[in-house]
Amino acid sequence: MLTDTQKQRYLRNLILPEIGELGQEKLLRAKVLVIGAGGLGSPVLLYLSAAGVGNIGVVDEDIVELSNLQRQVIHGEKNLGQKKVISAQEKISDLNPDINLKIFPERATRESLRKICPDYDFILDATDNFPTRFLINEICHEQKKPLIFAAVKGFLGQVSTFKSYQKNNPCYACFNPNILDENFSLPMSERGIIGSVAGTIGAIQATTLINEILGIGESLVGKILLSDFLQNNFRKVTLKKNPGCKICTR
Ligand SMILES: [Zn+2]
Repeated sequence: MLTDTQKQRYLRNLILPEIGELGQEKLLRAKVLVIGAGGLGSPVLLYLSAAGVGNIGVVDEDIVELSNLQRQVIHGEKNLGQKKVISAQEKISDLNPDINLKIFPERATRESLRKICPDYDFILDATDNFPTRFLINEICHEQKKPLIFAAVKGFLGQVSTFKSYQKNNPCYACFNPNILDENFSLPMSERGIIGSVAGTIGAIQATTLINEILGIGESLVGKILLSDFLQNNFRKVTLKKNPGCKICTR
């Protein structure tokens, strides 16, 4: 049952027929792990918290630097030098005290993810490098967790949902075996990104998750949304399971 305060806070969610009180309760009960509190993680964490996604874990070992503020809008000048998860916690508790936030100021490794992921129903990949993306994909397959994936580069963005533990659904490694893509392999500090592109893709990632929690709309399972912000072009491409995939065929 929602309290009177919650009925006011979530009024604009509640009047949507796709959400209503039952949907809002589902959001409040959901357990979501966000890996990364940077360019994608910032909008994701802000919108999930504002919407009342009630149990959020966030994994990030980094510290807020001045060059982050161009796109990582959950952090501010006063957070410079702080752990990103601490800075995010401060903002989220101010935005919505309903949120039960758990912070993990650690690196996303096989060991840490195996320990943290079992407590969550959905995993969001908001990281910025290939090795971690592949690792998250592998852990999600192993632990049968839905993975909401997003990535950005320059003016380009990608969003998809993977449920590779269900028969015939592809995983991230199925369509992206080429880990040596030069542009994506550059260290983050050498790559350009427009803050608003990360913001838009992060907002799409958050909305994709909300739809998955509520079980509404057309899922991005088996599809990937490719966005080109120079051309203002958005298209959905079908992804097929790769029968030779080393991750999801075992
Ligand atoms: Zn696969």
